[in-house]
Amino acid sequence: MSQKKQGSEHQRDEEDEDRTMPEDSRTEERRCMVRDQVEARGVDDPRVLDAMRELPRHRFIPPEIQAAAYHDRPLPIGCGQTISQPYIVGLMTSLLELKPYDTVLEIGAGSGYQAAILSKLARTVVTIERLPEIASKAKDLMEHLAIFNVMVVVEDGTLGYAPGAPYDGIIITAASPDIPAPLIDQLAEKGRLVAPVGSRDLQQLVRIRKQGDQISRELFGGVVFVPLLGRHGWQE
Ligand code: SAH
Repeated sequence: MSQKKQGSEHQRDEEDEDRTMPEDSRTEERRCMVRDQVEARGVDDPRVLDAMRELPRHRFIPPEIQAAAYHDRPLPIGCGQTISQPYIVGLMTSLLELKPYDTVLEIGAGSGYQAAILSKLARTVVTIERLPEIASKAKDLMEHLAIFNVMVVVEDGTLGYAPGAPYDGIIITAASPDIPAPLIDQLAEKGRLVAPVGSRDLQQLVRIRKQGDQISRELFGGVVFVPLLGRHGWQE
């Protein structure tokens, strides 16, 4: 018993020590990433750019490849999954047109990076992940970075998360054959949903808006995401 207690005390010490380390040690790399990869390609929402400059993206990346954290590409995060390229994170986030009091749902928590960006721009974020191992890492990191307005849920995200609905913004960060119907139901009036929709190999970035009975659809170019696996996604 006391052994166990000692263990957890020790862990807490390490965390405290870590917290005092300069989280922003790669600030200059982030500034360049935002300027050259995100802003240069047309993302101009200052709140999105600020959030991307602020959050330590390298912390969301496995230690052995952290050197590449600010490169212009997606990176593997384990279990065959990836963290999106910074530009795609910036683009999809800006397409959500978030206001500070909005509630957002993300499908595909992955590393937690996208959810952490959303946490800076909205009031609450619910992020769903189907793989418990990945979800638990994202959850721990969020706590470590003192991000308290993100809830990580382990479930099939194609069903959405009814207890938190309606959502002003919904973002799917995995390739979807079509937009899962439950997510459209859980979108608020005037809500925006952004998702990669298409085949397993290539998708189009789609934004839909709900206005009364009307659903409008806009396209924003080709992207490649890992598949959304679930009841209203691809079958495993
Ligand atoms: N947004 C993430 C990257 C997502 S990668 C980030 O910022 O790092 C896509 C993630 O979607 C993977 O972790 C995968 O396990 C998850 N996923 C796939 N199908 C899912 C489903 N039906 N529900 C929830 N998560 C799903």
